[in-house]
Amino acid sequence: MISRVRGVTLACVLGATLASLTGCGTAQEPPAAHPAPSAPRAAIPPSSSPRPPTLAPGPGGLTPVFRNGPRTHGRTVALTFDADMTAGEGPRAAAGERFDNPRLIAALRALKVPATVFMTGRWAEQYPVQARSIGRDPLFEIANHSYSHYAFTGDCYDLPTLSQDRMRADVERAYTAFRRAGVPEPMPYFRFPGGCYDRLALKTLTSAGVTVVQWDVVSGDAFATDADAVARQVLEGVRPGSVVVMHCTTSAAPVTERAVRTVVPELRRRGFRFVKVSELIGDAAGR
Ligand SMILES: [Zn+2]
Repeated sequence: MISRVRGVTLACVLGATLASLTGCGTAQEPPAAHPAPSAPRAAIPPSSSPRPPTLAPGPGGLTPVFRNGPRTHGRTVALTFDADMTAGEGPRAAAGERFDNPRLIAALRALKVPATVFMTGRWAEQYPVQARSIGRDPLFEIANHSYSHYAFTGDCYDLPTLSQDRMRADVERAYTAFRRAGVPEPMPYFRFPGGCYDRLALKTLTSAGVTVVQWDVVSGDAFATDADAVARQVLEGVRPGSVVVMHCTTSAAPVTERAVRTVVPELRRRGFRFVKVSELIGDAAGR
């Protein structure tokens, strides 16, 4: 069985409107068996470093889904930031809209908080200097949030939907964009746009070799205007091994940096240690 996504969240709606929240967060059953993707080539770029930890395939060989780390390995927590930019948003960026958030990255560096950035390929194309800087900083790791930020299911907020035959290519195109920007070691982790997936999407991505990463704590930073409310929601939700979803885009998550400046010292006061997703996956995989 595919574990069903728990809860409908606001965290994954960037690029869509808040008006239609149905669909995201529900893993849908496939209507019928589907052929496996034919391309055998791995999507992950070759690397000289030891391969990052991944989860074993799920039931039926499906792409594995990671939601949180072990609850009993100490007080670790992973902050994750989705760097969202959708394929059609170039003109908006050209008109001055900021899909990046340099102040957030600077705050994480100042606070020495390791973090995992789930970046779209389109974002890396728009902000190659930042993508490279984040990707070359050992404090951070860059993971894949698709190239286009289009949905991998038919009903995911208002995001345009990728057809099945374009899903894997969209993931690979993001890795190509990272490489072109100068990101040396993007991680073999993938977060579905909107967090929306179903069995067909998991099956289609099996040959890509990625571990899908969801979350167990929704920060609520998407379109938020109250940094304290975001911080409260995170602090109430975090448990040992938690994965928190936030965003790295000023346009649609303008208070995230302020929320982080509240959350980080408080979680440290409570004995939490900030880690990257790879450490939690390593813990879960027994490494
Ligand atoms: Zn996103």
